[in-house]
Amino acid sequence: MRILKFGGTSVGSAERMRSVASLIQGDEPKIVVLSAMSGTTNALVQIAETLYQNKNAEANALIDALHDKYKQVVEELYTTAEKKKQANDLLTNHFDHLRAFTRDLFTVHEERAVLAQGELLSTALFQFFLEENGIPSVLLPALNFMKIDENEEPDAAYIAKQLQVELAKYPDATLFITQGYICRNAFGEIDNLKRGGSDYSASLIGAAADADEIQIWTDIDGMHNNDPRIVKGTYPIAQLSFDEAAELAYFGAKILHPSSVTPAKQKNIPVRLLNTMEPEARGTTISAERIGGSIKAVAAKDGITAIKIKSGRMLLAYGFLRSVFEVFERYKTPIDMITTSEVAVSLTIDNDRFLDEIVAELEKFGQVEVDRDQTIVCVVGDFIAKNSGSGLRIFQALKDIPLRMISFGGSRSNISVLIDTGNKVEALTKLNEGIFERTTPNA
Ligand code: ASP
Ligand code: MG
Repeated sequence: MRILKFGGTSVGSAERMRSVASLIQGDEPKIVVLSAMSGTTNALVQIAETLYQNKNAEANALIDALHDKYKQVVEELYTTAEKKKQANDLLTNHFDHLRAFTRDLFTVHEERAVLAQGELLSTALFQFFLEENGIPSVLLPALNFMKIDENEEPDAAYIAKQLQVELAKYPDATLFITQGYICRNAFGEIDNLKRGGSDYSASLIGAAADADEIQIWTDIDGMHNNDPRIVKGTYPIAQLSFDEAAELAYFGAKILHPSSVTPAKQKNIPVRLLNTMEPEARGTTISAERIGGSIKAVAAKDGITAIKIKSGRMLLAYGFLRSVFEVFERYKTPIDMITTSEVAVSLTIDNDRFLDEIVAELEKFGQVEVDRDQTIVCVVGDFIAKNSGSGLRIFQALKDIPLRMISFGGSRSNISVLIDTGNKVEALTKLNEGIFERTTPNA
């Protein structure tokens, strides 16, 4: 079994959907996971926000506009009057469902039902397209098997069991279509895996089905060695280990949802990042193997807040760090980077929702300093001690940039530095010149 996930731009128009249909040819069993058509989830978020503000006329106008966009897709996607009618009836159902939310109070449960419409629509329209073209396939409702628990974590055992139940209903089928992103929660309500979560769906489904391979199809040719939006001449990395890919995805490479590495890693299923616009390109393969030069890639994550706690109480004391960490735990705020000296500890967070509360509690331990608008620049590679020299190259490249924190040794695949966001472009450019020039890209 293979899992093939297509993102929003890959199903973003009638024409793109047609190319997806040609990419999934072949008899070998597949589950195809689709995102919403590009722009749809953003439009649904906007509709939900408008409904929360009780601007119901405005919400209706947004719903009508989205409905019109989909009517156009139906016009372009199908050739027979019969399929056009079937698809338009489907649109009417979904959009009338959305319109119903404009008639009374809007709740968080309803918001999730609104957000789910994008994937429900893309998969249903695609299934109709396959039917019209005589390609046998089964539409599997993700809401029948994808589930998160009370902690909003995927319930892997349930997913594996229910997915088998669903698949067993169609013993002769080889092609299945299902929705990314959407799921049910512990209360059985419609929920989702958070923005960009379709990659995560694909990986969870891959793990649940014991797939041979998980393919993530997007509109670029794999994970690049540096941010292509900032630095010229970046190249796709042919091979990454699971850990390297997880670090890169977490620290800024937008192509893959960071959580999606874990299920694949646990089941040791290779993940391939492929390009629908250039299907022959090799893309990036993520697997247990670690190969290639010691420095593989650079990624940057903005919107970071650094917090420094200086305290005489830390000197020769134990239990101090625990008390600090407990504050972050109470506010469910993950810490990304951490460095310590004997009298101070610096750490970074990217979710500053409870920053004021956290700072107020930390002030009980000592003097607290907060720096906003920071960026973590993360260099990923295989930094085992015997590959010496990488550190020198990195810091040589960054010699003119003030470094606020440095983190190395936490894992063998990452060296991170914290800088002012204002210095990011310079840092990424200097690293590009300084650390990749002398390494042969494993391309
Ligand atoms: N449609 C959802 C989003 O735009 C999920 C995804 O595409 O991964 O966030
Ligand atoms: Mg995505």
